[in-house]
Amino acid sequence: MSIAENISHLRNEIPPIVTLIAVSKTKPVADIREAYEYGQRDFGENKVQELVEKHPMLPGDIRWHMIGHLQTNKVKQIVPFIHMIHAVDSLKLLSVINAEGEKVNRVINCLLQIYIASEETKFGLSPEEAAQLIESSLSGPFNHVRICGLMGMATYTDKMEQVKREFGVLKECFARFSEKYFKGQETFRELSMGMSGDYRLAIETGSTMVRIGSLIFGSRR
Ligand SMILES: *Cc1c(COP(=O)(O)O)cnc(C)c1O
Repeated sequence: MSIAENISHLRNEIPPIVTLIAVSKTKPVADIREAYEYGQRDFGENKVQELVEKHPMLPGDIRWHMIGHLQTNKVKQIVPFIHMIHAVDSLKLLSVINAEGEKVNRVINCLLQIYIASEETKFGLSPEEAAQLIESSLSGPFNHVRICGLMGMATYTDKMEQVKREFGVLKECFARFSEKYFKGQETFRELSMGMSGDYRLAIETGSTMVRIGSLIFGSRR
């Protein structure tokens, strides 16, 4: 099946309020262009190097999402054009993004990555650490970052009960933070969860952004 057909199938299934992010990591610019021509505008990459290489070769109205772990010394390279950074996992990183955002006069959309999986290799904050980070950022004040919500990755397993439980933890955390720190504010509204293998479950649990790679572009080597 073609990239356009894959996107078409997903769009038919995903509610319009959920943003479909096409994860194009390792895929050539030609594949991204094919998706773009079919109307896709949100693309996700997990490496600064790939973002920096691909972004100038593609139309300026693409919304680029950095979905991978981000090192503070690389923030500068993506801040001039990035739409959203999904995996903020320290106050240090948030403050560097803020400082670089100030230099280019942009407010950078950020999500805090929460650790929900039982695997040990995944990055992220515990809910308690995330709460502390939000409190510090509010008293910062950080005027060049906008905390738009939370991101998480479930354990890579076919035990759907477990995945569902993990998404539930993230959703609960999102609801708690909305109430406690962002009441009456519309900026804190994104829950980025769900990939090719678990996006249906994620949407059932309240996801507002799904990050889908292989179901659109085929498997990666
Ligand atoms: C690669 C990646 C995805 C997409 O994975 P697929 O299983 O190919 O859909 C989603 N989120 C993150 C953080 C990724 O690194």
